[in-house]
Amino acid sequence: MSYNSETLHAHLNKYFGFDSFKDDQEAIIRSILEGNDTFVIMPTGGGKSLCYQLPAFISEGTALIISPLIALMKNQVDSIRGHNDNNDVAHFLNSSLNKGQIAHVKDKVSSGETKMLFVAPESLKKEENIAFLKNSNISFVAVDEAHCISEWGHDFRPEYRKIRAMIKAIGDNIPVIALTATATPKVQSDIVKNLNMMEVNTFISSFNRDNLYYEVRPKINKEQTIKSLVQFVKKHPNKSGIIYVQSRKSTEEIAKVLNINGVNAAAYHAGLDNKIRSKVQDDFLMEEVDVIVATIAFGMGIDKPDVRFVIHYDIPKSIENYYQETGRAGRDGLEGTCLAFYTHKDIVKLEKFLKDKPVAEKELSLLLMDEVMGYSETGNCRRQYLLSYFGEAYDDSLCNNMCDNCKHPKEQVDGKEYIKNVLLSVADLKENYGIKVLVDFILGNQTKDIKDYKFDKMPHFAIGKEQDSIFWYSMIRNAITIGYLRKEIEQYGILKISEQGHAFLKNPVELKVGINRDYENMSDDQVLTDDSQGTALDNTLLGMLKDLRKSEAKKKNVQPWVIFLEPTLIEMATYYPISMADMEQISGISKGKALKYGQAFIQLIAEYVEENNIERLTDVVIKQLANKSKSKINIIQGVDRKLPLEDLADNVKIPFEDLLDEMNNIVNAGTKLDINYYIEENLDEEVIENVFDYFDEAESESIESAYDELQEDDITLEEIKMVRVKYMTEIAN
Ligand SMILES: [Zn+2]
Repeated sequence: MSYNSETLHAHLNKYFGFDSFKDDQEAIIRSILEGNDTFVIMPTGGGKSLCYQLPAFISEGTALIISPLIALMKNQVDSIRGHNDNNDVAHFLNSSLNKGQIAHVKDKVSSGETKMLFVAPESLKKEENIAFLKNSNISFVAVDEAHCISEWGHDFRPEYRKIRAMIKAIGDNIPVIALTATATPKVQSDIVKNLNMMEVNTFISSFNRDNLYYEVRPKINKEQTIKSLVQFVKKHPNKSGIIYVQSRKSTEEIAKVLNINGVNAAAYHAGLDNKIRSKVQDDFLMEEVDVIVATIAFGMGIDKPDVRFVIHYDIPKSIENYYQETGRAGRDGLEGTCLAFYTHKDIVKLEKFLKDKPVAEKELSLLLMDEVMGYSETGNCRRQYLLSYFGEAYDDSLCNNMCDNCKHPKEQVDGKEYIKNVLLSVADLKENYGIKVLVDFILGNQTKDIKDYKFDKMPHFAIGKEQDSIFWYSMIRNAITIGYLRKEIEQYGILKISEQGHAFLKNPVELKVGINRDYENMSDDQVLTDDSQGTALDNTLLGMLKDLRKSEAKKKNVQPWVIFLEPTLIEMATYYPISMADMEQISGISKGKALKYGQAFIQLIAEYVEENNIERLTDVVIKQLANKSKSKINIIQGVDRKLPLEDLADNVKIPFEDLLDEMNNIVNAGTKLDINYYIEENLDEEVIENVFDYFDEAESESIESAYDELQEDDITLEEIKMVRVKYMTEIAN
């Protein structure tokens, strides 16, 4: 049956209250109404479900909707009923219903009142259901989340592969509409093949979400990452956000850190009681909770339009996952930030989990993770990388600074000659190898593969030995992103030269290529000075603080390091503490130390902030979970009780030597540790005086330097360590 545009618009308004269709919606609806097999690839939030719901309303009979998750069916049915005064307009058929309910559903389908019937493949394959549906009037079948068909997708469900046979058992010539929100070219062809959609109308919407900002930050260590994460969240007060982490333990830990920093956050993972999980979900929807810290279990079926940020504390296992999860941000078309923390170590960790998996699964997972690595490390437009993964060409000049690499361009080089060499090397390798071997070949590494097949005799072997592997990974990934090389996922990721690549070889053109960031060799300083962090080290202020430390030291007649250690100053020059309370949050500063030395520094920083109009993140200092280890607390308590240090070492089960080191760490952090009761009994007065004299003059707080100088006076390392605890306690803290 065919409908004119006016009629379709009238139905759209009647059933959904909208005045106009989005993108391809009208064409898709027309295709299914005309009885064609139809394939819809549309990103989450694009208006996918309307594509089958509207034709279901206006077709005769019942549309069968195959959907993978029983838990979601109820939501879907509820949302359809919400638009309609007859509750029987939509039903689901699954194992959660009792006999009476099943009879009711079947009755309403038979009477034609039910326009949409949701089933999971597990229920559909039951013979009694097939028999029933065979005798019903089925208008069409919609296969939702159709990527579940493909083992190359991120959500493979074996039952999905039997859907075609089930449909056939119900009747011939029933039109099928398959819908998915994420599909690589490989997954797409799997869906079409498996559903046997011979002549299919395919509608591919762009996967570009131009309101989302993409950024990747290095994950140096846990403390730095959590700090950076909390700062980000605090910069978005009262905004909804989701933080994805890998482990259940991290969900709870991070939610707690957010809580003590005044953020309304809750943990969510599969290990929680059902009741708690649905409460967390409801609280999030009702805005009782702003931030959810979740494992991937969270988000399926959550349709909150105003999620403002999605953070990946741990890198996801595939680009599909990443795209799907970040896709939950900014569904209302307004701002959405997608931030991921990346370290190569996380990839290595994920690889370890794969150790015992079957070979095929392992190879596939490695390939998917390789793409995640490529995305994280790229120096080029991240949007372009994502879209290229989904087979979509994208001109990165359109990104409009909506990714960190476009906003803060990385070093770029003319890649013309380099990419030419990459393609020629691929040809030398007979287009039969993946990226790793290719890099070895270009660098001239004599690996076993290369020697066995005599590739070292090929003309371009070692052509790129002047550059390093990061450089060549950048070039190769860029050649893939712009389509000169094709990666055959099905064949373990071997690289082939595309037609465009051959055209380029004939007529090379200039190419700007951003060089990947070296995440593996990045140090703490680089992170602090990276201005995209929003909390950069202020070098001018650092210089001023050092000067102040010098003059204060003179005034108080102590060495500058006695006042504050260098890392403490760096932290001040990053977070701008302007009150005693702020000051106490800086590492290395206890309450006592803040009172003793803090005032002058607070004054200087406050004036500096005022004069330079610095926008301080309010309440920026991140409160950590009580991170004093148990043994540290035991040491402090033991000293309070005046335990002999030997007994204390036994108590906390560490060697005496380590106990002294721990004590020095404790005083370095600004805590007083009064061990006079022990020192006076066990140390010579002269030794104490000598060490005090030394530290009064010393340019650094280092124990080693003290030992270098004091050992000729027969003072032992142990003695220095003990007296230093006394010195720091009495003079510095
Ligand atoms: Zn970009």
